[in-house]
Amino acid sequence: MTRPRAAVTGGAGFLGSHLCERLLNDGYDVLCIDNFLTGRPANVASLVGRDGFRLLKADVTDFVHVPGHLDAVLHFASPASPIDYLQLPIETLKVGSLGTLHTLGLAKEKQARYLLASTSETYGDPQVHPQPETYWGHVNPIGPRGVYDEAKRFAEALTMAYRRYHGVDTAIVRIFNTHGPRMRPDDGRAVPTFIRQALAGQPITVTGDGTQTRSIQYVDDLVEGVVRLLHSDHPGPINIGNPHEVSMLQLAKVVADLVGSGSGVEFLPRPEDDPMVRQPDVALARAVLGWHATVDLEAGLRHTVSWFRSLSDLTD
Ligand code: NAD
Repeated sequence: MTRPRAAVTGGAGFLGSHLCERLLNDGYDVLCIDNFLTGRPANVASLVGRDGFRLLKADVTDFVHVPGHLDAVLHFASPASPIDYLQLPIETLKVGSLGTLHTLGLAKEKQARYLLASTSETYGDPQVHPQPETYWGHVNPIGPRGVYDEAKRFAEALTMAYRRYHGVDTAIVRIFNTHGPRMRPDDGRAVPTFIRQALAGQPITVTGDGTQTRSIQYVDDLVEGVVRLLHSDHPGPINIGNPHEVSMLQLAKVVADLVGSGSGVEFLPRPEDDPMVRQPDVALARAVLGWHATVDLEAGLRHTVSWFRSLSDLTD
C-alpha cells in the first residue's frame, strides 16, 4: 500500500519542522519545501536521512512542480515574526499571495487536501474579545504590519475561492502565538526575547506599560490541532490557541521566575498597530476537532527555556 504523502511549505521553519516530524511519525512521506528565508536546514537536520523525508530548496513564489502523488499540501511558508516581516515586507506579501496561489494550484493538480497556516493577526487590533472565527477583524491595511496581516487575509480569500470555484478540499487554521524549541532567540517575538534576556541576566524589555495581553500556546498543542484539522473535512477557519490570557508584564515575571534570574523590566515604546488584546475563542475547535490546549503556560515555557539553555550561542 502506498503511504500518504504530504508537502509542507516552510517546513524548515519553527512550526513547519515540528509538523514535518509529526507527519513522518504518523506514517506520512514528507516533502519539505523551503527557501531558508527565515528558517534553516538545521531545524530538519534530524529528519534528513529518515525514511520518507525529502528536503527541497525552492521558493514557492516561483512555480512549484512536484512529481508524484500528494495527499496533502500544508502551506506554512511565510516570515512570521514582526522583526522578519518588517524587514521582508515584499517577500511576505509575495508568499501570502503568489505562494498561496501556487500551492493551491499544486493541491488542485494532485487532488490533495490543502491546509493554509493563517494567523490570529487577521483579527488585527480586535474590538471583539475573545476572538471567534466569525469576527472579521480590525486591521490597518497601510500600516507597517499590514504586509503580514493583509497577506494572510488575502491568502484566506484565495483559499476560499479555490474551494468554491475549483472544488479544492481546503482548510484554514488561524494560529495564535506559539512557542517552543527551534524558535530563533533573536526573532523578536516576546517569548524568545524574554527568555534570552532572562538567561543573560539582562532587563526584560516590555513595550508600552505591559498591560497588553497575549495568549500563548506550546508548539505540541498547535501541531495536534493542525493534524486534527487536516484529518477532518472542515474548511475552517478554525482558531488554534491556548485561551489562557496574560499581560506582557505577567509573562515577563513568569519567565524571570522560571529562569531564576533577578532580571528587572525595562519599558520600551509600543510598536505601531500593536494589538492591545489577544485571546482565542476555541469553541469551534472543541466542537469539531475535539481539540483543546493541554500544555499549561508554565509547563510549556519550561520546555522552551530548557531548549534555549541548551543552545551554545543565544545570539544565533
Ligand atoms: P518561520 O519563519 O520559522 O517559518 C517560516 C518558513 O517559511 C521558514 O523556514 C522560511 O524560510 C520559509 N519561507 C518563507 N518564504 C518562503 C518562500 N517564498 N518559499 C519557501 N519557503 C519560504 O515561522 P513560523 O513561526 O514557523 O511560522 C510558520 C507559519 O505559521 C507562517 O505561515 C506563519 O504566518 C504561521 N503562524 C505562526 C505563528 C507563530 O506563533 N509561530 C502564529 C500565527 C501564524
